[in-house]
Amino acid sequence: MNKPVPQPGIMEIDLYVGGASGAPGSNVVKLSSNENPFGPSEAAVKAAGVAAHQMHRYPEIDGYSLRAALADKYGLEADKIILGVGSDEILQMICNAYAGPGDEVIYTQHGFAMYRICALGAGATPVEVPECDRVTDVDAILAAVTDATRIVFIANPNNPTSTMIGLAEVTRLADSLPPHVVLVLDGAYAEFVEEYDGGAELARTRPNVIMTRTFSKLYGLGGLRVGWGYAQRDVIDVLNRLRAPFNISTIALEAAKAALADTAHIDKSLAENARLRVWLSEALAAIGVQSDASMTNFILARFHDQEEAEACNDYLKSQGLIVRPVASYNLPHCLRITVGDEPSCRRVAHAIGAFKAGARA
Ligand SMILES: *Cc1c(COP(=O)(O)O)cnc(C)c1O
Repeated sequence: MNKPVPQPGIMEIDLYVGGASGAPGSNVVKLSSNENPFGPSEAAVKAAGVAAHQMHRYPEIDGYSLRAALADKYGLEADKIILGVGSDEILQMICNAYAGPGDEVIYTQHGFAMYRICALGAGATPVEVPECDRVTDVDAILAAVTDATRIVFIANPNNPTSTMIGLAEVTRLADSLPPHVVLVLDGAYAEFVEEYDGGAELARTRPNVIMTRTFSKLYGLGGLRVGWGYAQRDVIDVLNRLRAPFNISTIALEAAKAALADTAHIDKSLAENARLRVWLSEALAAIGVQSDASMTNFILARFHDQEEAEACNDYLKSQGLIVRPVASYNLPHCLRITVGDEPSCRRVAHAIGAFKAGARA
């Protein structure tokens, strides 16, 4: 060996591709990363500004004050919460803690890209199982479990499909897995579902279930990188050994606490999203573009084939509309479109209508 060689699996990782963006200040509408179209809470921006004056100080070592605020808001226990640099970091800690060479990590056909990346990063073997018409298939997951399985990841609701399975199915999955298998319930979009706790109760009562959540979607803080996990104390203790001390900055902690408390901004974001995701889906259906009922803040628009989806993506780009092609999620004939504010929804529906009527980039 005449040069450094990375661990097995590392070179199999395809770099994560984020949603594209346009030049700042341009008339481009970015609907590619499921961000909050109304931006961050004003209170969060203000809190970040105040906290900036303390940036010479180290932050809380374990983000205690934000964990307490989360516990208070969601009715959980602060010492069973761990914070991550985005929930992505929690997913990574989980893989590093519970899987290694020779172990298998299960995720679904259209599952979030980070599951494979984190599994390979830990040296484990990724195992992709089929979904049933773009919906998580619990039986397919159970059928894929072997003695080597260590972790099962599902996002519920899932990105990029926008679909979810009900709590009864999630519970059946949790109860049917061998007790040594960790079940990760990625709740990045849980806030957008009424009457759904993201799997918190399962994580509270089952020693092998971890719920992950994020401030990047509903709360509009993707740029600050704050996510969290909730599980029983033994699991949190394991993950904390891998967590870098001081991983969440003071600015991020203060902004996240303010965002949690800004119920007016949250309510407005939820109400507009609930209204506009139905509007957009119906507007597209009227011009022959189908989508599943969305449980999230985006819709997955289905075209005839890959060629049409790519042509539509090119046309939208030429109109200053950025959406997300999802060929890498085994959905080459689809485009994922974040539910924007009303003008953005109208603009994208209008442009797709023009494309369907024959317009080309
Ligand atoms: C956006 C997203 C995340 C993670 O986002 P972070 O910004 O890292 O918190 C996790 N899972 C799914 C399914 C997502 O869509």
